[in-house]
Amino acid sequence: MKKTNEGIKCNYCGEVFGKVAIKRHLEKCKIREEKNQPGEEVYYWIQVQGYYQKEYCMYLDVSANASLKDLDQFLRDKWLECCGHLSMFKIDGEVYDSDPDPDAMFGSIKSMKVKLKDVLYEGLEFIHEYDFGSTTVLKLKVLSKRTGAKRKEKVVLMARNLPPAFACVECGRPATQLCSCCIYEDYAFYCDECGEEHECGEDMMLSVVNSPRMGVCGYCGEED
Ligand SMILES: [Zn+2]
Ligand SMILES: [Zn+2]
Ligand SMILES: [Zn+2]
Ligand SMILES: [Zn+2]
Repeated sequence: MKKTNEGIKCNYCGEVFGKVAIKRHLEKCKIREEKNQPGEEVYYWIQVQGYYQKEYCMYLDVSANASLKDLDQFLRDKWLECCGHLSMFKIDGEVYDSDPDPDAMFGSIKSMKVKLKDVLYEGLEFIHEYDFGSTTVLKLKVLSKRTGAKRKEKVVLMARNLPPAFACVECGRPATQLCSCCIYEDYAFYCDECGEEHECGEDMMLSVVNSPRMGVCGYCGEED
């Protein structure tokens, strides 16, 4: 029943590394270097991982001129979006909300329109929360700040954990789905066939996906 398929894949060269080695690798990956011409634009390297499920991680190269909104959208696209819940960043004691209430009694909630260069710095650790009911919490860290040529994409995914593999609890074959009801109590992963037999019914079944939001709310993975 143990989860397999550990490792983090470099999106430039396709090689797989552990969590410490991937950072060193990205620094010197030849293919990444070739794709990143020198220039004056500022970029941050940001590590994102599940706060409680650290095996899910991404390494991003983000323009300092991008906004928190851009980063929020990227995280939603890759890992989070199920039904348009609210989200927020917590950075240095400040809250940046995806939908700040203009009539809020407290003046402390800011919008995500702020640019990264105005709130991030090297070494900073911060938090992202999606959905204030069944919350998925992410931990982010600014690994480094660097310069390069201007480019179109605000966020580039440099590396990401391999999709975890789960074995079907009934037959041991690769699982494709999980029961969103039983998963809170048990290891409730199933292959297609055994999933059909599961007592909770197909409405409770969610796909196995590569995200810390797997099995939560109606999350069924990123759109292709
Ligand atoms: Zn590489
Ligand atoms: Zn939802
Ligand atoms: Zn099975
Ligand atoms: Zn069930």
